[in-house]
Amino acid sequence: MEQEQLKQFDERIQDLVEETADKPVRRVKKEKPQLKPSIYSLRLDEMKEWLTTNGEKAFRAGQIYEWLYEKRVQTFEDMSNLPKALREKLEAEFALTTLSTIIKQESKDGTIKFLFQLQDGYSIETVLMRHDYGNSICVTTQVGCRIGCTFCASTLGGLKRHLMAGEIVEQVVKVQQQLDETNERVSSIVIMGIGEPFDNYDAMMNFLKIMNDDKGLNIGARHITVSTSGIVPKIYEFADEGMQINFAVSLHAPNQEARQKLMPIAKAYKLEELMEAVKYYTKKSGRRVTFEYGLMSGENDTEEVALELAKLIKNIKCHVNLIPINYVPERDYIRTSRSKIFAFEKTLKEQGINVTIRREQGADIAAACGQLRAQERSHETK
Ligand code: SAH
Repeated sequence: MEQEQLKQFDERIQDLVEETADKPVRRVKKEKPQLKPSIYSLRLDEMKEWLTTNGEKAFRAGQIYEWLYEKRVQTFEDMSNLPKALREKLEAEFALTTLSTIIKQESKDGTIKFLFQLQDGYSIETVLMRHDYGNSICVTTQVGCRIGCTFCASTLGGLKRHLMAGEIVEQVVKVQQQLDETNERVSSIVIMGIGEPFDNYDAMMNFLKIMNDDKGLNIGARHITVSTSGIVPKIYEFADEGMQINFAVSLHAPNQEARQKLMPIAKAYKLEELMEAVKYYTKKSGRRVTFEYGLMSGENDTEEVALELAKLIKNIKCHVNLIPINYVPERDYIRTSRSKIFAFEKTLKEQGINVTIRREQGADIAAACGQLRAQERSHETK
């Protein structure tokens, strides 16, 4: 059943990609560089398993985790309580560093944006945001994206590859190493960087489990938020995981016609199916869902649309996060004016909907998802 669902998912996504591709490009396939697996990809149980199948003692897993997540060492050599032979084995098998920092930009408001280069030359973005309640980090899950939202910079150029779990984990470790210098801590994580996390589901789940592990970075599930464009079968799967992770859905429009214009994924998974899946999630988890709603001038920001939105979600345990859309030069959308954003918020409130407006950070350093990478993309190894 699961296999069948996956196959169906792949086919639907593939259709979507073909349908939305500007023009088909025939490229000669190039040899892909070998990616060494990241040691950070391993959950604690997987680490134990690797050790025992390699003739080592399982308890070493705890020691390795301590080096990785508590002491945050930069080389295997530094893991000084491990036998030399084991350190060499680890070195031969795994990469401890899969990300190198190409750009680090700091905004006036304290936001820091990292552009990291991967082993095969692709680049990804990670953003550290400073709030009164702590430091939050926005991580990337894929190199590019194949979902094709028409307002989004991350999808320009399509999907290059999925990230390994360890490449997602290492983004947090790298930022934490930066914060170590000022004795600060990453206190929350949003999976809202480049990519569709539910399109790289297994790696994302491993990432969540490693973050959540008290021997890992020990970041509580309630301090982690995952956002999806609406890959329906994965929403059911996620609901069944029973983790207390905050869950967000990018809605952006209150009806099928408008939504599929903005988000081609809505052709594969209809709004009605999406709402059913969201209801399943709220029922199963007992938690509320956050609907993200980017306001684009003349597209989805009138009072009439706000009323339609309120009607769509009024029976769902939810919260709406209104996003003043970031301008993407390759796209035509214009951000809704401040007064209209407030009017939209007011209409929703009057209808009894919980609503907030997303605060902007790092506007002076192109901190919105995909913006820095879009600037950098020409330098990537293609
Ligand atoms: N793929 C996932 C998570 C990454 S995007 C998703 O779609 O939810 C994180 C959020 O940023 C999503 O709500 C997405 O719709 C929004 N977003 C994309 N492009 C944007 C833009 N130009 N301005 C503001 N928000 C944008």
